[in-house]
Amino acid sequence: MSNVSAADEAILANATAQKGHPKGLRVLFATEMWERFNFYGMRAILTLFLANALLMGEQEASIIYGGFLGLSYLTPMLGGYIADKYLGNRNCIILGGLTMAVGQLFLFGSASIFSTNLDLSKSLMWFALLVIIFGNGFFKPNISSMVGSLYPAEQKSKLDSAFTIFYMGINVGALLGQTICPLLGDREVVMVVNGVERTVRDLGAFKWGFLAAGIAMLIGTITFWFLKNKYVVTPTGAAIGGKPNHSLSNQDEATSAKFTRQAVMILGALVVGFYFLFQYLAWDSTAMPITEPGIGGYFKALALSPIKTFVYPFIYASGLSLAIFILTDKSLTRVETQRILVLYIVAFFVIFFWAAFEQAGSSLTFIADNQTDTRILGWKMPPSMVQNFNGFFVIIFALPFSALWLWMQRKNMEPISPVKQAIGLALIALGYFIIAMQVKDLGTSGKLGVIWLIVLYLLHTWGELCLSPIGLSLVAKLAPRRFASLLMGVWFLSNAAGYALTGTLGALLPPTTDKYTAASEKGINLQGILDGTTTATSEQLAFLSERKIATTYPHFAGFTIHNLFEFFMVFVILCGAASIILYAITPILKKMMHGVK
Ligand code: GLN
Repeated sequence: MSNVSAADEAILANATAQKGHPKGLRVLFATEMWERFNFYGMRAILTLFLANALLMGEQEASIIYGGFLGLSYLTPMLGGYIADKYLGNRNCIILGGLTMAVGQLFLFGSASIFSTNLDLSKSLMWFALLVIIFGNGFFKPNISSMVGSLYPAEQKSKLDSAFTIFYMGINVGALLGQTICPLLGDREVVMVVNGVERTVRDLGAFKWGFLAAGIAMLIGTITFWFLKNKYVVTPTGAAIGGKPNHSLSNQDEATSAKFTRQAVMILGALVVGFYFLFQYLAWDSTAMPITEPGIGGYFKALALSPIKTFVYPFIYASGLSLAIFILTDKSLTRVETQRILVLYIVAFFVIFFWAAFEQAGSSLTFIADNQTDTRILGWKMPPSMVQNFNGFFVIIFALPFSALWLWMQRKNMEPISPVKQAIGLALIALGYFIIAMQVKDLGTSGKLGVIWLIVLYLLHTWGELCLSPIGLSLVAKLAPRRFASLLMGVWFLSNAAGYALTGTLGALLPPTTDKYTAASEKGINLQGILDGTTTATSEQLAFLSERKIATTYPHFAGFTIHNLFEFFMVFVILCGAASIILYAITPILKKMMHGVK
């Protein structure tokens, strides 16, 4: 588009100024929509696939899910860096999109062969998740930053509404993905077991869900490929998000921080130090015994549970190290330091939000699967599809919420961002509290009405709308320009830490009704075994272990989780406490923000 005439330029510039939003936003909207279809669609059925087809059990599936999500939000640091330094946003989006599509095809492969070659199927699954993690790292940060680049300086006031529209695109994609992938991949068949007809999960269907996710990603990448040169351009027709222009690096100097080799080494040392600290703190000696002394035993234990012992501490260590590292920069003024500290404090509290919120794809899906009546108007909804109410509610409420903030702004009543974040945390706690009350008296055989999961998603979505879109703009407002990308990185790493915690907390899910039923059909008193009043025979133990049914209750922070009520109360207490503390310190935060809203 470099050979547009001056007249064309004028027309383009004029059209952009009048129409509200540049046409490029539609392309980014569509691309992100297909990408989120792929990501969330796959995610909806992933844990069920791991637990049921790959026979990993729900606990391990939750741990893998948390590690997968956490790493998916760690790699954007890398994708952002490579784009800024070498490839540019456009290339990274295409590369990331294709990579994720390939990853989905590997999952399709894994889900096609698990019944004949479980080991190969598992290896393919690990490889596929790794590929998707890197693909997401290339894609996600670059598409978001391109939204910002669409608007020249004089139109930056449109950014808030641009991001609201973009957030809708995210959720239209999530809604479609979490509808279509479950419809294709989470199905039932009638089988005759011992002469009795039974409706069971069709394990062979998962692959179609993964294939649909892969195709969606391809559509997104192709859409972007063909439309980018026409629409994703500045008002004067120059490509947005092309390769970085290194001849402009003098200009960059004022806006981006430079680090010496020594500083980078300090960062590396911090990561290693914190990594071992977190590993030490979280080491679960029962799950990960060191059977041999020395380094060999250590690595054996690591191999037993690589996500818990390696991935999670690495994620926490990266976030904390980067945060501390930025603060050691000598050029920071007192006001800048205080603003950064506000960002860190908020980022810390937000960890609990995501940890509770993203149970959607693990424990809440298992509950929908095992202890919920998912019939809606007589139609039985696939359990993995229930989470699509989140996307649905975002689409309905995103605009009203942004209108509400604008209205409050005009009345001079708009709460400052940390207050909104505290409200978000309170809403998520409330969502869990309502459902906790519903499951209180269910016992080991009752089923939850799906309406309560829908109510939970409604409250969680309101919480998300108070917290998530605002977080990004808070970073933009509080970060000194030269640290903007690094602090965005810290923000993403706090999301990643939240996801790691998602894995740990999701694995606390106590046995749901299906486990009690399966045990009692074999004449096993599971409740008695769990309570320690019955001793299981070795035959019974073998059956339970083969079905991945735990024989002890999960523990967390010295507490035993006996039932779903106590499980949900973990989130009520964590998020409720986080909300109250964050709200209580907002007057201090407000001072430290020095005028930033
Ligand atoms: N659902 C949003 C997305 O996928 C937000 C997720 C997040 O910020 N952690 O982009």
